Amino acid sequence: MPRVIVIIGPPGAGKGTQARLVSEKYGYPQISTGDILREMAQAETALGHEIKSTLASGKLVSDEILAEVIQARTSRSDCENGYILDGFPRTVNQAHQLEELANQQQKDVLLVRVKVHEDVLFKRLTGRRICLKCGEIYNIYFRPPKVEGLCDLDGNALDQRSDDNPDSVARRFEEYRSSTAPLIEYYRNSGRLIETSGEGQVEEIFEKLCLLIEGAVSR
Ligand code: AMP
Repeated sequence: MPRVIVIIGPPGAGKGTQARLVSEKYGYPQISTGDILREMAQAETALGHEIKSTLASGKLVSDEILAEVIQARTSRSDCENGYILDGFPRTVNQAHQLEELANQQQKDVLLVRVKVHEDVLFKRLTGRRICLKCGEIYNIYFRPPKVEGLCDLDGNALDQRSDDNPDSVARRFEEYRSSTAPLIEYYRNSGRLIETSGEGQVEEIFEKLCLLIEGAVSR
């Protein structure tokens, strides 16, 4: 049966990185709702402006907009055998939407939770800097560029995501605790939850994650 693998964790847990690696290994497309929404926020339309200000504040975009985004993206042909969701569902209501969608698409849902302590997350997020040109990611605490503010690879200026400032980060943690954390119980109760630590080397985290996914899929 084709699968939907949901990677869930607090902001800064490394969901995107692990989702990309899982996608490369198993050949399922990675669907990042944060990336899709950041792209939609570039549009000079009422919807684009609404999404842009919601993202900058660290609040959640409405479930209605997300339902359309997910429906449209997962009905593309590359999702036929399965797909990886990074950033969706984020509310219990969105989890219900996904149950319905997965049923229609005749796919099983598996939830992978990546756990990281909050003090580590705060530094990962507020220290994150991104090259405007090539997208290389740095961190002023854990992986600083050789020259402050400039990309090691192409010398271009580094930027900070609009929602990586301390106020927005605090808001995103709050949204995670109140809206997203309850999903964990929802999936645990139905026996579809895998949990692993997101601290340490990326490759080690990934290896453990693959063992857990393969164990769950073969059950
Ligand atoms: P991320 O890149 O996953 O950290 O998402 C960045 C921002 O996009 C979040 O803080 C939300 O404002 C918005 N977002 C992403 N996914 C969702 C979702 N499933 N529901 C509501 N808002 C979302």
